[in-house]
Amino acid sequence: MRWYRFGADFFVCDCEKLKMYWRYIEFFGKMQAGKDAPKMCRRINQRFPRNMKGSPMKHRPHAPSPDALGADQSNLPSPIKADLYRRLDPKVQAAYRPVDPRYERLPRFCWVLYGIAAVCLVLYIVQGASVAFSDWFNRTISAAGRTLLATLTNWLPFSLGEFCIFMLPVGLGLGLWYAIRHRCDTWRTAGVYIGILLSVVVSIFSVFVLNFSAGYRGSTLDVKLGLSQEKVSAEELYDTAVILIDHINQETENIAFYPDDFSIMPYSIREMNRHLNRAFEDFAADKDFINHTDSYVKPVLSSEVLSYMHITGVYSFFTGEANINVGFPDYTIPYTAAHEMAHQRGIARENEANFVAFLVCIGSEDSYVRYSAYLNMYEYVANALYSADKELYYKAVANLNSPVRAEMSAYNRFYDKYKESTASKVSGTVNNSYLQSQGEQAGIRSYGMVVDLAVAYFHANSSTADD
Ligand SMILES: [Zn+2]
Repeated sequence: MRWYRFGADFFVCDCEKLKMYWRYIEFFGKMQAGKDAPKMCRRINQRFPRNMKGSPMKHRPHAPSPDALGADQSNLPSPIKADLYRRLDPKVQAAYRPVDPRYERLPRFCWVLYGIAAVCLVLYIVQGASVAFSDWFNRTISAAGRTLLATLTNWLPFSLGEFCIFMLPVGLGLGLWYAIRHRCDTWRTAGVYIGILLSVVVSIFSVFVLNFSAGYRGSTLDVKLGLSQEKVSAEELYDTAVILIDHINQETENIAFYPDDFSIMPYSIREMNRHLNRAFEDFAADKDFINHTDSYVKPVLSSEVLSYMHITGVYSFFTGEANINVGFPDYTIPYTAAHEMAHQRGIARENEANFVAFLVCIGSEDSYVRYSAYLNMYEYVANALYSADKELYYKAVANLNSPVRAEMSAYNRFYDKYKESTASKVSGTVNNSYLQSQGEQAGIRSYGMVVDLAVAYFHANSSTADD
């Protein structure tokens, strides 16, 4: 028999651990026990491991009656399950803290979120299996969802999507702190808490399926527009580049440039937005695959960070917002904004969003919006032409007028700073994996595939003109 000393006044024998509680109460009264017992229990539990040999509690043959429970629960860690706590002897209750019963059950809203996610998983599989279903889904349910989110967030003067991403580390830190403080009493409460967090994560998947994923699985834009996409030759690229250069040169007559530098967008983002909304309305008037939304493109605060990541704009599907990097030169902004607005209106694939942005912008009544579209499309075509035939590329470039050449040189100077950033490699890899997971085999190269659509479009237009 061993005797331990706790504090200055109290002794206990190691084979009758529980007696300590009673003696403590006898010595110091119930009030005192209520205050100090948890601390004392911790000390006891440290000194007497639960599987202590010779413990008379361990070999009890039958379940104890509620009255006797107090004597049987001395090895329980504190706190304990709420229903068990209720059944304990009041004297022993003083030694434990009950777990909040709400923490032991998954809240009803989480079950609802899991149910919705299960339905969305089925929808996701059906979208992958049927182009017609995806087209219908994108035109109806997704269009309504995207419009709803865009309308809900439109009035905010800042990007809610960006705010959420900024707050993510803070949220994770607070969530962890809260979990450690309140939800780690038992494995069950910790599991329930993880279940709540997971229900939020799967809800992001649900929003993605309901509002956006059908766009990746529906019919392609060339089918919707009746264009025939074929393998593009260097000559066709050259012809397209020359057409684009003609338009660019024409538009520069109404555009102001800094001396030997960038062009100047002659209005605010809000004004640009009005031009783009109007252009989208005109474009979508006879097309059922573009949903009608009057939306405000959000300039992001972290534009400089996005520049290092080579991101000029982002559509955050979970808030329905089209966001743009305003750190990039003016001439990229209207076209990028239109690209993100195309995502917001149901065009998911990158090359298709690029091409819709192009068609929308060249239909605008504003020359700077048109200039932005022609010049950005020219860059894609010129890149492809440079890879296909350098001689033809230089022949085409010779047609560009001097303000636009100065704009291109200014862009190269601007871009040098961000060219080789590590952030861009990381974001490129992430974006590449995301696009490939959505069936875009070319990954980030799919942006450039807009060239095929542009060639097909100008080819179809010139044949119409010839007819
Ligand atoms: Zn995009």
